[in-house]
Amino acid sequence: MSRPVRLGQVYRCPVCGAEVAVINAASQALEPYCCNEPMTPLDRVLVLYRCPVCGAEVAVIRDRGGPLELVCCRVPMQRRDSPVPEAA
Ligand SMILES: [Zn+2]
Ligand SMILES: [Zn+2]
Repeated sequence: MSRPVRLGQVYRCPVCGAEVAVINAASQALEPYCCNEPMTPLDRVLVLYRCPVCGAEVAVIRDRGGPLELVCCRVPMQRRDSPVPEAA
């Protein structure tokens, strides 16, 4: 029973507290493990941005509520909050 992978989804290891975030999802069956335990998906979902020119991807770790505008290659980065595209 795998839930669909969400871009930016944060997982935490229940044992050591390590946290990871999904920056890119190539499959719908991501199941991160740490310390031999499945990591727990948190309510926390990071907002991702992508540069349309060079393909650089960034995740917003902390948003202080200001108008965030990321620029890469002199163009604004595009927000990637759309769900993972279906595999073609
Ligand atoms: Zn761990
Ligand atoms: Zn760029």
